[in-house]
Amino acid sequence: MPGVDSLKQCLGCGDRREEIELMRIVNNKGELKIDPGGRLSGRDVYICPQVSCFQAARKDNQLSEELHLEITEELFNQLLEEINHG
Ligand SMILES: [Zn+2]
Repeated sequence: MPGVDSLKQCLGCGDRREEIELMRIVNNKGELKIDPGGRLSGRDVYICPQVSCFQAARKDNQLSEELHLEITEELFNQLLEEINHG
């Protein structure tokens, strides 16, 4: 039965939401990927699909540390693009 088990915490605002309501960001073999289907393996984080949460998650290098990946300005902008288009 789906329910509590599928709740994930947003790295940005800390809210717990259904997995499908959040964006899954994965460090897939050293590459930053957005993985809505949850198929890719690797270190992952969940973030609400809104710019404010991404910016909060990026503060203090949280996002980099969680993913063990350097989040450059370019990568971060790519992420923001994905939110805006999705
Ligand atoms: Zn959030």
